[in-house]
Amino acid sequence: MALEFRSVTKEFHTRTGGQLTAVRDISFKVDEGEFVSVVGPSGCGKSTLLSMTAGLYQPTRGEVLVSNEPVNGPNTHVGFMLQKDLLLPWRSIVQNIEFGLESRGVGRAERRQRAMTELRHCHLDGFEGHFPYQLSGGMRQRAALARTLAIDPEIILLDEPFSALDAQTKLVLQNSFAQTIAESNKTTLLITHDLAEAVLMSDRIIVLSERPGTIVAEIAVDLAHRDQPLKRRLMPEVSDYAAQLFKHLKLEEKAA
Ligand code: ADP
Ligand code: MG
Repeated sequence: MALEFRSVTKEFHTRTGGQLTAVRDISFKVDEGEFVSVVGPSGCGKSTLLSMTAGLYQPTRGEVLVSNEPVNGPNTHVGFMLQKDLLLPWRSIVQNIEFGLESRGVGRAERRQRAMTELRHCHLDGFEGHFPYQLSGGMRQRAALARTLAIDPEIILLDEPFSALDAQTKLVLQNSFAQTIAESNKTTLLITHDLAEAVLMSDRIIVLSERPGTIVAEIAVDLAHRDQPLKRRLMPEVSDYAAQLFKHLKLEEKAA
């Protein structure tokens, strides 16, 4: 399923009675099966874009469309995964993965079967009976991805899912996420402040300005191995793309 932002502006009311524009006039499309990243400075409205896609907030102006239909509220097309894994500590891993299926009324046997399939997909075989506290941070994030995939959303939203992990775990996990997502051919929107991650994982990168976030660049990543960031990492062109992002984000000026 494709996803589209059409001239989306989001204003929030502040506690002091003022108004704050988080993002302004955002238009871009994510095609079916495409992997798009959004990068930009902290506070520029990246998470707000995801929340509107998930139907948690309505745009103040403009529309978010999923498969050409405006998003009017939470819906089953979209799976949302955050930096914090939000696994329930009192449920085993397989029970956590089943959680979303339960609330959708899927029967017990089918629930278990789908959860086990996603568990294997996310390389967690043998850990179904473990509890979240018994798993490493990387494994918990994989469990969170399995839970997101178990409800079989057409669109996956990832909000800085790797940012709390150590550097090595991050690389391994980026690779396994990329593989799993490519295999299932999901339309994916990733929010990240890690520029290398954006280059390694995406088909296209949207660069936002400081708040109010507006689009300052859209960069097509014309490299092979989208399903294998570890391989991409060794390609010399990666640093050229990173340099482009640096320029658009005006990072050199900031360092001066
Ligand atoms: P990012 O994810 O890029 O760091 P956010 O989308 O979280 O940025 O936030 C963008 C701006 O909107 C910030 O200034 C934030 O404080 C503000 N904001 C986000 N959500 C709300 C809300 N529910 N109410 C008021 N202000 C909000
Ligand atoms: Mg955010």
